[in-house]
Amino acid sequence: MEECIFCRIARGDVPTGIVLEDERFVAFRDIHPKAPQHVLVVPREHILSLNDLGRRPGDIGHLLLQFIVKVAERVGVEESGYRVLTNVGPDAGQEVEHLHFHILGGEDLGDFR
Ligand code: 5GP
Ligand code: ZN
Repeated sequence: MEECIFCRIARGDVPTGIVLEDERFVAFRDIHPKAPQHVLVVPREHILSLNDLGRRPGDIGHLLLQFIVKVAERVGVEESGYRVLTNVGPDAGQEVEHLHFHILGGEDLGDFR
């Protein structure tokens, strides 16, 4: 079976535009950016989706939020504004079954839908 692409990126096996990393999380540029700044944040651990994350004990959720803010600072959108979203399951169109948060910014993003 083909291994999960985001696990491979997080391990450094696939050359990707890494924005920031620490021992738990990796941020890299989306291959098909939908805004001037479009970064994906993933845990190094293969967690399927927000459902999987939210059912875990511990502080990984808070650490993830802190990491997302650091990424926003790194790409220079923390003051101009940005959107964070994660797709969960088929109705949301989750393509990759490894938890990822989109960070979008760098322009007026318009209304949410
Ligand atoms: P989803 O629809 O699951 O929320 O988003 C998956 C995202 O991953 C898409 O925006 C897609 O462009 C991005 N993506 C898929 N495969 C790759 C890849 O191999 N490298 C990078 N950098 N992004 C990817
Ligand atoms: Zn994975």
